Amino acid sequence: MQKETNKNLIHLNTFGIEAFCDEYYEIENSLELAEIDLSDDFLILGSGSNMVISKRLPQVIHIKTKGIEILEENDKTVKLKVQAGEIWDDFVSFCVDNNYYGTENLSLIPGTVGASPIQNIGAYGAEVKDIIQSVEYFDIETKSFKNIDKKDCFFEYRDSIFKHKLKGKIIVTSVLYILEKNAELNISYGGIKNYFVEQKPTLKAVRKAVIETRNSKLPKPEELGNSGSFFQNAIVKEMKLRDLVVKHENVPYFKAPGGFKIPTAWLIETAGLKGFRHKNAGVYENHALILVNYGGATANDILELADIIENKVFDVFGIKISKEVNIV
Ligand SMILES: Cc1cc2nc3c(=O)[nH]c(=O)nc-3n(C[C@H](O)[C@H](O)[C@H](O)COP(=O)(O)OP(=O)(O)OC[C@H]3O[C@@H](n4cnc5c(N)ncnc54)[C@H](O)[C@@H]3O)c2cc1C
Repeated sequence: MQKETNKNLIHLNTFGIEAFCDEYYEIENSLELAEIDLSDDFLILGSGSNMVISKRLPQVIHIKTKGIEILEENDKTVKLKVQAGEIWDDFVSFCVDNNYYGTENLSLIPGTVGASPIQNIGAYGAEVKDIIQSVEYFDIETKSFKNIDKKDCFFEYRDSIFKHKLKGKIIVTSVLYILEKNAELNISYGGIKNYFVEQKPTLKAVRKAVIETRNSKLPKPEELGNSGSFFQNAIVKEMKLRDLVVKHENVPYFKAPGGFKIPTAWLIETAGLKGFRHKNAGVYENHALILVNYGGATANDILELADIIENKVFDVFGIKISKEVNIV
């Protein structure tokens, strides 16, 4: 285990925000977690691609454990135990190279395997909950390793038990995925559908299409600091939707658990804020759901911008939008 003090985290969060921590630990073996005297206010860090660090942190635990292990395999499926510090897209690449189906639509999502169940990462009509069998974690109170079954993780849209009951109490150490060796590819979703008008897709071709689509739409954090979608899509009840359709006949919506999903990008854009800048932060010109750091932005710049957006969307539509990004 490597320990540093007064560490600058600017290169360890994709927003590129300067923030310091008193103690920084790099974990390469999960057993090392038991040796740390954890403070009441510690932060578990993966790739820092879903957070705004808004203050000096007392303790940061950076999970860098590696390993992909085949636990069981038959003609139809394979069970893989993957260490929390593996880079998510390296794991996707491994699966596609080995013809294991299930991760391909989630290609190129930044971050680590250990963070994948936290917000139930999703893209292009797929969610990681569909391939998770169980999650292994380090219980901070008992200093022991435990397993939680998928059904007890309460996975929802960008949500799980890890953001609520178990928040601050556990550290994900590995994830058990179950993947199919031959399955239907899901290419029904938006951007990638257009890739396969004439040709029958292969697993590799779907990964390529997802990567190309993402690269054409999303800013690369190494060029323009960002944390992907800053807000969750809004879910509204039928009454509210009817009211919206009267005032905005072109409002896009999709049936979703709990009501109807309205793309928050549309709400922000229609409220006139696409491309809007506040100090060194701004709403990305090509995608209104993404807030970016134009250089030297502080956490305050970004949080003030988020407030402006939340208030404007509420004023225009009467909808309260929620942040997807963690404010730490
Ligand atoms: C350009 C871009 C595009 C993105 N696109 C998508 C997308 O399409 N879909 C999507 O779902 N997300 C997307 N994201 C968000 C992000 O990639 C995911 O949320 C990812 O899972 C975060 O992983 P991380 O390792 O960077 O987590 P971090 O940002 O390091 O941490 C996020 C949260 O999880 C906690 N955490 C991390 N690791 C652990 C662990 N081992 N145990 C316990 N808690 C932990 C942290 O404490 C923090 O609260 C995008 C981000 C960017 C920058």
